[in-house]
Amino acid sequence: MAENMRDELLFEPKNGYEGMEVRERLACEAYCEDYKAFIETARTERECVKEAIRQAEEAGFAAFPMGSDALPGKKLYRSVGGKALILAVLGDAPLSEGVNIAAAHVDAPRLDLKQLPVYEDGEIAYFKTHYYGGIKKYQWTALPLELHGVVALKNGETIEVSIGRDPADPAFVITDLLPHLAADQMKKTLSEAIPGESLNILAGSIPYDDEGGDKVKLAVLSILNDKYGITEEDLLSAELEAVPALAVRDIGIDRSMIGAYGHDDRSCAYAELKAILETETPVRTAVCILADKEEIGSEGVSGMQSEAFESFMEDLCELSGGVRLRRCFEKSFCVSADVCNGFDPNFPEVSEKRNAARLNYGMGICKFTGARGKSSTNDASAETVAKLRKIFADNGVVWQMAELGKVDQGGGGTVAVYMSRRNIETIDAGVPLLSMHAPYEVAAKFDCYMTYKGVKAFYKDR
Ligand code: MN
Ligand code: MN
Repeated sequence: MAENMRDELLFEPKNGYEGMEVRERLACEAYCEDYKAFIETARTERECVKEAIRQAEEAGFAAFPMGSDALPGKKLYRSVGGKALILAVLGDAPLSEGVNIAAAHVDAPRLDLKQLPVYEDGEIAYFKTHYYGGIKKYQWTALPLELHGVVALKNGETIEVSIGRDPADPAFVITDLLPHLAADQMKKTLSEAIPGESLNILAGSIPYDDEGGDKVKLAVLSILNDKYGITEEDLLSAELEAVPALAVRDIGIDRSMIGAYGHDDRSCAYAELKAILETETPVRTAVCILADKEEIGSEGVSGMQSEAFESFMEDLCELSGGVRLRRCFEKSFCVSADVCNGFDPNFPEVSEKRNAARLNYGMGICKFTGARGKSSTNDASAETVAKLRKIFADNGVVWQMAELGKVDQGGGGTVAVYMSRRNIETIDAGVPLLSMHAPYEVAAKFDCYMTYKGVKAFYKDR
């Protein structure tokens, strides 16, 4: 009797591996292999969008706009300048009944090359960078880097650049000071030890055989010209991103975790993508957002503050017999699928143990993010949390509550605030991470899989 009361009254989350069925474990393994393959190839927001489109087309999605019929089950997508992607599977219900949206982002912290990046100093050539998103600068030195992106030419052509992903390619690196001579550096704080303007990437050291100055710089530009047909002026209209040149690996003797660059937020982006690719004629229309620019405030045309989303949804509403967008939004529901911080026993002081998300406890529901007294957060309503609890309970989704650090420790945000400003009921939920925003982040396979299962169940919901 006492035991029953304990079960009935207490909320005691348990480790997802407790009592896990073999079938589920195999499904989890298979899912994570697909996810690992995705982040192994998709290293930037553009590459994520490109790979997502490839998989979507294979699954029967077509670019929108298209024919004027709005048959349930129709699969559409729209790319926002190749940097963000919105996909939808039309449901049986009209758009006036709202849609189920899952919104993740595919940009990740990185080092962007400046517009005039190439210079030479001490007969060594470098690329100057400007970091993108919240990084701890010291983590980006003495780390192999690869270069991805595009160079847009005056003639309208766009050249894709990728150097370093192929093991046969050269890689890049930012040097750090040897400890023998670092006495002054070591006295500085972590945020001051590596100034932003010293994040200069080693690019080459062989001088060009001619009479002028800056011979090494010239030699580097000549190799870029041979390989891509570009000049220094072309780099002014380029987006070149340096990201860690690290392989995606299983972590731990039990292989229970995945080490990789960009789990934030590709672990949720892939969960959403896979879920919508497997969604056939839901009750309510399912919408999958793979957004850009989240790490720098969701600004820009490809960020979630942009009306590119309204544009897409308005076109969907039109297909659905001229439904007013506002009517659709006010009945819609959005899961802002973004990662949260997993409790790290190495740094227990920043979390409040009772409310922190834990590895292997499933998808983390984050009622609020923000900082200093919940400022700048969506803070989902009790009803919204209850709705998600119900969906997850009905579909065997293992989940937990999450909190972004203890009170007054710091904070952060997601696209949730921008979705809720549209009068869309929104809640944050996603994969708990260790080492978030580091060049190599850690996620538990179980949580990645449960996030996919959670979004899939949500897409099916009426
Ligand atoms: Mn994120
Ligand atoms: Mn982030």
